[in-house]
Amino acid sequence: MVTQYAINYRVFSFTLLFIVFISPCSAKSNAGSPHDSQSIDVQFHSIMSSEKKQIIRQWISHSSDALKLVYGELPINHFITKIKLSRRNSGVVPWGEVSRNTPPEVTLVINPTSTLNELKADWTIYHEFSHLLIPYDAGDARWFSEGLASYYQNIIQARAGMFNEKKMWQKLYEGFERGRKETNYSHQKLSYVSDNIDQNHNYMRVYWSGALYWLKADITLRRLKSGYSLDRALYQLRKCCFDRYLTAEEITKQLDKLTNSIVFTSLFTEFSESYTLPEYMKELRSLGVTPFTPEVVLKNDAENSHVRHAIFQGKLE
Ligand SMILES: [Zn+2]
Repeated sequence: MVTQYAINYRVFSFTLLFIVFISPCSAKSNAGSPHDSQSIDVQFHSIMSSEKKQIIRQWISHSSDALKLVYGELPINHFITKIKLSRRNSGVVPWGEVSRNTPPEVTLVINPTSTLNELKADWTIYHEFSHLLIPYDAGDARWFSEGLASYYQNIIQARAGMFNEKKMWQKLYEGFERGRKETNYSHQKLSYVSDNIDQNHNYMRVYWSGALYWLKADITLRRLKSGYSLDRALYQLRKCCFDRYLTAEEITKQLDKLTNSIVFTSLFTEFSESYTLPEYMKELRSLGVTPFTPEVVLKNDAENSHVRHAIFQGKLE
């Protein structure tokens, strides 16, 4: 599945097509947050039973709770989740996308036969919700935003107990491997490949180079021991800079300023200019993640094993 987002005309036409089916009582779900001002407006854009709507509300509540495991609250006080039923019976959530309107809208197309457990086990909603962690204007460096969502979709699922630490690193490792193997545009820089992804279809290289960017930033910040993890840097960004949408470059500058570092801008330059997925085995080994077939092995005596475990737990160290 290709997850798109953005200011996308197709989104608007799709919405218009289904607008007549909007439930008259689109529900506000306050997902049990201690922050009473936070809410998700759930809109149903297809006809469905009240039981199905209830399942969907439970699914959204579960997934937003997972998102809160980044720094204790939702990145945005109010956003809209639009639910549509797929006309085909393939996949659990065959489509998802974020539209950067005000408030932002997360559209999820679901298979009408999906159960609550199947919905919770599908990665799409965690990916789309993770996009909300930055106020990205969707104008440039798509790899940067897709990478953030690809990184955090795995982290928040693991923190929410959907799978264990080992599986989390297994999924990240396998993603990096898929990205590394996509080399048919290795004569072009990531920034160019990312801007032309609709033509070159290098989704694996673009998404997983991006995920590696955020992992490297997370490791570097934690190793600086200046009191920052990526979770904490994103929380500071949420507090200072969510009043308007920003370019990827503006976000990196803000994150550097907030963390008193050059981690985000320097890695941004390095990754933008990369011709293949940058090196990741060294980082994984330093974290104590050793790739063995068919599964990774986690070691607790590596240089940064404590960093690995802290990323999984959502702690500083
Ligand atoms: Zn995405």
